Amino acid sequence: MVRRNFIKKSLIGGLGATALVGCDNSNDKATYPRIISTWEHGLAANQEAWKKLTSGSNGISSIESGVKISEADPSVRSVGYGGLPDREGIVTLDACIMDKYSNCGSVSYLQNIKHPISVARLVMEDTPHVMLSGKGALDFALSKGFKQESLLTDQSKKDWLNWKKKSNYSPVINIENHDTISMLLIDQNKDLFGACTTSGAAWKMHGRVGDSPIIGAGLFLDNEVGAAAATGLGEAVIRTSGSAMVVELMRQGYSPLHACKTIVDRISKIHKSGPDWEYLQVGFIAINKKGEYAGYSLKKGFNYAVCDKQNKNLLMDADYFI
Ligand code: ASP
Repeated sequence: MVRRNFIKKSLIGGLGATALVGCDNSNDKATYPRIISTWEHGLAANQEAWKKLTSGSNGISSIESGVKISEADPSVRSVGYGGLPDREGIVTLDACIMDKYSNCGSVSYLQNIKHPISVARLVMEDTPHVMLSGKGALDFALSKGFKQESLLTDQSKKDWLNWKKKSNYSPVINIENHDTISMLLIDQNKDLFGACTTSGAAWKMHGRVGDSPIIGAGLFLDNEVGAAAATGLGEAVIRTSGSAMVVELMRQGYSPLHACKTIVDRISKIHKSGPDWEYLQVGFIAINKKGEYAGYSLKKGFNYAVCDKQNKNLLMDADYFI
């Protein structure tokens, strides 16, 4: 049964107005422009993207600027600078971006570059490819003038050394309030844009790539239909081509909420007797061409930020399956 949504709290300076409002799926009200982002750190990212969009930037620049806020913030421990490293103590980054024409760019397993989303955008705009990985992605970034810098903060190093004492790999992701930032934007012309950026699952194997840079898994949009993005255990999202499936269900007439829920149900069926069930979490956000939106997760604890003229910039608790 779909649980009741409620607006948890609002934010932020110029945009924020405090609210605690019950609303049974009233979040489905169509409006645009609208920006939705995963997790609490999505609030600050939304604020920046909204500022850009409403002062004349196009959708792709607005969404890039928005998620760069999370990439640069060392207190966001799952994205960019300050993100938790892999089990070798190395921060490796995944990111992708997609525009209304289905142009897309992506980087995976990128190291020492603070803004992987900007590299992904250049892969989209300045190469004949969609995805660059590892050293190739780094070389490309350097050729475009990006500077190498260490992304491992003192705090992340301390946490890694602490983890190494037991080297226990049981990623408790997305239960806490900080994970991949995925952002979806519908602009004043009802055109759609999307982005994802992450340092991935903490203590992952060196070389592991998650869902976030994979178009169709961590992010997908079709400007005729809608857009969807994921957070959570990337392996589970990849196995179901999660975001692409959410968009395809919306194409068949499903609401954003029903589409997200259907894919989460599918993920649950696939994984419920498997070894990762105990710590499995996945969450999706989706928005359709009318600007209706939803967030939905497997387990309680996923929230997402919604920014538009009506709501200002609000943190919503997602409906959930369990
Ligand atoms: N989806 C990301 C990954 O698996 C992590 C997350 O969103 O929590 O790399």
